[in-house]
Amino acid sequence: MRKNIVAGNWKMNKNLQEGLELAKSLHEALKDKTVNCDVVIGVPFIHLASVASSIDTTKIGVAAQNCADKASGAFTGEVSAEMVASTGAGYVILGHSERRAYYHETPEILKEKVKLALTNGLTPIFCIGEVLEERESEKHFDVVKSQIETSLFELSPEDFSKIVLAYEPVWAIGTGKTATAAQAQEMHAFIRETLAGKYGREMADDTSILYGGSANASNAKELFSNPDVDGGLIGGASLGVDKFMPIIEAF
Ligand code: PEP
Repeated sequence: MRKNIVAGNWKMNKNLQEGLELAKSLHEALKDKTVNCDVVIGVPFIHLASVASSIDTTKIGVAAQNCADKASGAFTGEVSAEMVASTGAGYVILGHSERRAYYHETPEILKEKVKLALTNGLTPIFCIGEVLEERESEKHFDVVKSQIETSLFELSPEDFSKIVLAYEPVWAIGTGKTATAAQAQEMHAFIRETLAGKYGREMADDTSILYGGSANASNAKELFSNPDVDGGLIGGASLGVDKFMPIIEAF
């Protein structure tokens, strides 16, 4: 059975003290609550170890926002998947559109990152999504299919079963312009069909596919009520407990 997941992506926000404060407040807010989804926070590398040791990671999963495409060695400034896992983090966000656009992460590079994440026991939250021009020229289905095929379809079924997908139309990220619930459902259903074509219906039905792009307390319920939307990857609205909790509680 696939899981509902609400994952925050803090991006390059919060210094260490602010990050710890936010993680602890969220932990406190969730302490006596039963929620109907897994909760994950994607924090800057430098916060990983402190955040992971300050909360119960069986209640709130901790994600890195990236990892290196090499296992180890002379790659100054890089952080390996093994290092991420050694902090107590259980997830890694990979292929975020900001990484693809600003740091030139290609599908080939991402394929390596996914492999290394899996080898080190991390769950990749793998982001896919089209830019506005691609949607306007009706190429969005082809673009998303190709992103999935090139980075993920060499994985064995066993490895693929550990992947979480996040559909994030780039035109909706940080813009306040959310995909409509119908647009999200249409793409999520298409993604699931694509997965079924490669790995079979059961695997497709068991894969969590999150939506990301200006999701917030007001639109989360409608987005999550779609049969193929299994949660959200949340940027701006994950930076405060007051904004993040209502999204978690939308399930
Ligand atoms: C994101 O960065 O993954 C994201 C969805 O951002 P926002 O919610 O701010 O649009």
